[in-house]
Amino acid sequence: MISNDADVVVVGAGPSGLTAAGDLARLGRRVVVLERWPSANPSSRAFATMARTLEVLDARGLADDLLADSHRAPGVTLFAGARLDLTLLESQYPFVMIAPQTKVDAALARYAAEQGAEVRRGYEVTGLEQDAHGVTVLARRADGHQESWRAPYLIGADGAHSTVRALVGADFPGETVLRSMILADIRLIDGPAGGGLTVGNTENVLGFLAPYDGHWYRAMVWDRRHQLPDSEPVTRAEIERTLTEAMGADFGVAEVGWTSRFHSDERQVEHYRHGRVFLAGDAAHVHSPMGGQGMNTGIQDAANLAWKIDAVLGGADEAVLDSYHSERHPIGRRVLRQSGLLARAVTLHLRPARWLRDLVVPNLLRVPRVRAAVAGSFAGTTLRYGRRGLIGRRAAAIPLVGTRLTELQRSPGFVLARERGTRPVAGALRQAERADAGPAVLIRPDGYIAWADTAADTEGWSAAMRRWTGPRPGQALRPTPRSNPCSTSGPGASG
Ligand SMILES: Cc1cc2nc3c(=O)[nH]c(=O)nc-3n(C[C@H](O)[C@H](O)[C@H](O)COP(=O)(O)OP(=O)(O)OC[C@H]3O[C@@H](n4cnc5c(N)ncnc54)[C@H](O)[C@@H]3O)c2cc1C
Repeated sequence: MISNDADVVVVGAGPSGLTAAGDLARLGRRVVVLERWPSANPSSRAFATMARTLEVLDARGLADDLLADSHRAPGVTLFAGARLDLTLLESQYPFVMIAPQTKVDAALARYAAEQGAEVRRGYEVTGLEQDAHGVTVLARRADGHQESWRAPYLIGADGAHSTVRALVGADFPGETVLRSMILADIRLIDGPAGGGLTVGNTENVLGFLAPYDGHWYRAMVWDRRHQLPDSEPVTRAEIERTLTEAMGADFGVAEVGWTSRFHSDERQVEHYRHGRVFLAGDAAHVHSPMGGQGMNTGIQDAANLAWKIDAVLGGADEAVLDSYHSERHPIGRRVLRQSGLLARAVTLHLRPARWLRDLVVPNLLRVPRVRAAVAGSFAGTTLRYGRRGLIGRRAAAIPLVGTRLTELQRSPGFVLARERGTRPVAGALRQAERADAGPAVLIRPDGYIAWADTAADTEGWSAAMRRWTGPRPGQALRPTPRSNPCSTSGPGASG
């Protein structure tokens, strides 16, 4: 048996695993990704990339290319004329990008490879043991040979049926919410007007359309009266029939591409950290595809985790790693609750309940504060770590003179955004000047505020940074990729 070493082993080359691997490699860590399948997953799956995820992708230099030939949907048309408008989002991306997941996966795979992560396809992880110093993981190659890896940390990003989750003995409590959901990429002769995402439903059926490009759409259909096991093939007739009934119009299905019949679960692990093993993405949480959150949440899990592992490998306190759970578990729980609410709302059966929904929701969404809160939550731009105040808030909305945060973040590490009109402070920390009024803020590598005051308080922001990076002299001011990442007011501070 061949034995290998790495700084971090990532199990699973989906969007969560590839983001984590790319980020760690960009920080100079030796990363190995073990992926069961010999080639990239060709199935379409997630279709919606939200504003916050686009910011994360922009900080890795990936957003422009992805957006170049993708559809930008300005909003979502829900039931009874209710509309979720995304054009007022406080983000460079006031829309949702509609593109098959294969495109995002491919961009992240390129990123991971270019940063130097080693992606080994055709390696199925079958065993795992951890001790006080590291994790040993066993993988079986397609030819039956076994190889082992030893690393201080392991990320289990191996999807909803995670082997890593089973190997660390974690339960995946929850329930199935919808069965016999059909996803399909279809070409329509004449799609719905409006250009956004469209939801239609009656007491028995649900239909959903998201425009990719030209006449191609992602369709999601569900019929209460026609519940089949996942293994039953999807027929064109059931897509056409259900879609027409749900939308109250026949858009004419000209062609059917990728299809899948599946059931939708709501599950979440209790702990994202198991010693030296971390669960991320679908391995940690699954939910209804109705809110389009699965891939987005996984990518953001990975962006939260990678720099913290790098920090601890570089000498920061182990407690930094606990903040991965304390920050991301509540976000996962919220995503489960929201996508579950939406799934239940669009599949309501009883007439009085549907009547009430159609009366209340459109009116609620006309209230600017409610609309902004729902849109921000959907887009991920209002998600934050910790409950209140500046610390833990997303920093990408802060306007900077001559640049934007996600452009600066194409080199990893902390950023200091100084007050407007102030000169650079001494030291090599990446800095920019705020274009608006507001205090200086120290921004974590994942784009959330770690500290706020005046930039002249060098001791203040240096101390905030050291809480995440550890007391390495001079480290705080190191400028480029191997500089240490850090975070909010301090590790484990939020919840
Ligand atoms: C049919 C389908 C439709 C979906 N539709 C939507 C949608 O419309 N909207 C939405 O937001 N989300 C959707 N999702 C969910 C979305 O695809 C996931 O949220 C997203 O892919 C999660 O990324 P991940 O990296 O965490 O896991 P995955 O993308 O599942 O990647 C996990 C990887 O781990 C690998 N792996 C598993 N076990 C092992 C092992 N033992 N050893 C090595 N490798 C292993 C797998 O082969 C896989 O490549 C859908 C999922 C499916 C399956």
